[in-house]
Amino acid sequence: MQTPNDLDAFFMPFSASRQFRKTPRLLASAEGMYYKTTDGRAILDGTAGLWCVNAGHCRPEITTAIADQLGVLDYAPNLQVAHPLAFDLANRLRAMTPPNLTQAFFTNSGSESADTAMKIARAYFHACGETERTILIGRARGYHGVNYGGISAGGIPNNRSAFGPLLPDTDHLPDTHDLTRNAFSRGQPEHGIDFADHLEVLIEKYGAERIAAVMVEPVAGSTGVLVPPVGYLERLRELCTQNGILLIFDEVITGFGRLGTPFGSDYFGVTPDIMALAKGLTSATIPMGAVMVTQEIHDAFMQGPEHLIEFFHGYTYSGHPAACAAALATIDIYEHDGLLTRATELGKQWEDGLHALADCPHVIDIRNIGLMGAVELAPIYGAPVKRAFDAFRAAFDKGVLIRTTGDTIALSPPLIIKRDEIDTLFSTLRAVLHEI
Ligand code: PLP
Repeated sequence: MQTPNDLDAFFMPFSASRQFRKTPRLLASAEGMYYKTTDGRAILDGTAGLWCVNAGHCRPEITTAIADQLGVLDYAPNLQVAHPLAFDLANRLRAMTPPNLTQAFFTNSGSESADTAMKIARAYFHACGETERTILIGRARGYHGVNYGGISAGGIPNNRSAFGPLLPDTDHLPDTHDLTRNAFSRGQPEHGIDFADHLEVLIEKYGAERIAAVMVEPVAGSTGVLVPPVGYLERLRELCTQNGILLIFDEVITGFGRLGTPFGSDYFGVTPDIMALAKGLTSATIPMGAVMVTQEIHDAFMQGPEHLIEFFHGYTYSGHPAACAAALATIDIYEHDGLLTRATELGKQWEDGLHALADCPHVIDIRNIGLMGAVELAPIYGAPVKRAFDAFRAAFDKGVLIRTTGDTIALSPPLIIKRDEIDTLFSTLRAVLHEI
């Protein structure tokens, strides 16, 4: 493949693009656990792309299903007409998500799933006549994509600060990261159920009858793998139920096997009223998301004359045929290859290997759950983020793709990773941490 030599025209997302243009990292192809760069180097994918290539790269079962589908039905809308694959996929998701989640609304990304989930929550209460219930509670350090609902309920200052004014009627729980009490926890940290009790403060502030939904990631991924403390999600569920507030789980990362169970909800034994999905749904082959809702929420919209539209929301590509074909083929692989529980099988090696890095320079915390891991580094005085960015570049030079957020290194490999590849990932990281 020819290397493009003019890197100026592409306005890159979430990138240090001036640095990139000086030392481009261009990926030309991929297979299984590896990318190949335009100059022919193999790069072990330690991040499943962006937490999304759960089935591994270029699986022929998926790429063939997509190609076949595009040859038969390239596109059909699902507005007023529809195509059968969208129903097949909705039924499949109904069968694999927690039993109370019965209908699927299709989107094209995690951001759209998050915003759709929030719109469904508000519109549900509107349909029920509780028109005062408009407040959406997110969490500090929460990431729900980049659309306006997502950044308003999300809690990442850099994603919010330049884009105001944001959505009114949003507020936040505190994040659950507590280095003082929980550093180097393995799996769920012991301390911090009290962070959930802050919902009571917000209920006191606004009145329960004004709060529509609480939206959290079961494990905050993008801000550095913040694992919920023991009892925390249960407590949130309890408070939401007691106060008639909907609980939305943004499972865009934790869905489809990342924690060693089909969904984060299964792992923690806590069931939301609405679940946002994307990424692993198609193993990232075609952009697609879904929002799962309960029968009760769905049915609240089914009112009025039958010739009228019930929910004024949707996308041109909601349930695109190629995306549905990709998702169905992906779910087949997950089930056939046992990938939805594979993170449990690998969990001990993953946890031990990751925590063995505790003696490396700069490391101030290590966190893990399922096949997610984070190594938090002490920031360089006066130059936050730089240490982790240096680690990212050094790892890439050594043939491993990691992801960094702030001064934290985040890892989330494809679920097909082999044991020796886990060892390579950690030994490379060890070398990187000693080098930077
Ligand atoms: N929600 C969560 C929890 C995510 O991690 C992400 C992306 O990382 C999103 C939403 C946004 O997804 P997308 O980038 O597909 O819009």
